Amino acid sequence: MTSTPSLTADAVLAEIPELVPYTRDAVVLHPERAEPGFRDSSIGGPLLWPRDEPWPECSLPDETDPEGVPATAMVPVAQIYRHDAPGPWWPADRDVLQVLWCPNEHWDPPARQADAAPVLEVRWRRAADVTDRLTTPPSPSRCDEDGYLPQACTITGDPVTDLPFREELPAELRARLEDLVRAGDGGDGVTRLAGWKLGGWPTWHLTHPRVFACRDCGTEMALLFTVASDDETEVVVGRWGDLRIFACPADHAHAFQADLH
Ligand SMILES: [Zn+2]
Ligand SMILES: [Zn+2]
Repeated sequence: MTSTPSLTADAVLAEIPELVPYTRDAVVLHPERAEPGFRDSSIGGPLLWPRDEPWPECSLPDETDPEGVPATAMVPVAQIYRHDAPGPWWPADRDVLQVLWCPNEHWDPPARQADAAPVLEVRWRRAADVTDRLTTPPSPSRCDEDGYLPQACTITGDPVTDLPFREELPAELRARLEDLVRAGDGGDGVTRLAGWKLGGWPTWHLTHPRVFACRDCGTEMALLFTVASDDETEVVVGRWGDLRIFACPADHAHAFQADLH
C-alpha cells in the first residue's frame, strides 16, 4: 500500500507557493477485502444497474479468441458513489461512476482503448433513476488472466492534493521541488500519488508526459480514474502498472481514452 509520505502537499505549497496552480484534487481509494453491496462504493463489487439496460459485452479479438466470439460479458471494476469521493470530476447531475472491463488482453483494440489491456467501459448514473435493478448480471465466458478479475473490496476515500510529475513543471519550479524532496528523506509522497484514485495527476515514469485531446471537441482531457495493481484487489495491469482513464472535462458524454503505464 502507500508508504508514509516524507513531505506533505501543504508543506510543499507553503515552501513553493508558485506550485499552487499545478495542484489537482484527487481521492485515493484504499481497498479492503469485503462483501460490498450495490449501494456501496466498491472495487469488484455488485453494480447498481438498471434491469432494462443491456449489460456491456465485448466482441473484440483477444488473446484467448482471435475472433472475439462469442461476445463475453464485462465484469465490474469499480463503482464509486459521489458522497464517497466528491470532487470536480463529477458531472453536475450524476452521483454514481461505474467502470467495467472485458477481462481479456486485447492487442489491437480501438485507438481510445489501451493496448495489451482489458477493454474498458464507463457509465455515469443518477442512483435515483435505478428503480428496477438487475440482480444477476452475466458472467464472462472467457478470461485471460486472474489479474483481470478484481476481488471484491470496499473502498475508503482519502481526499488529497496531487502535484504533477516534475517533468510537467517549468524548469525553475522543477528544480526547487527536487531540492525540497532531496532535503527530506528523498521520498516523494506529493507528486502523482500512487494507487487507485479519482482525479489527480498520472505518473509518467516510463515515458514522457502525454496530453490527450478529446476526439469529440479537442479539449485537453483530464485524468479521471486510475486502476492500480495491488495485492488487496489482486488486480495486475501491465507490468504491475496503472490503467488510466482520461475524460473530457467539457462533457462527460464525450468518449474517454485509456492508457496503460
Ligand atoms: Zn474483450
Ligand atoms: Zn470533449
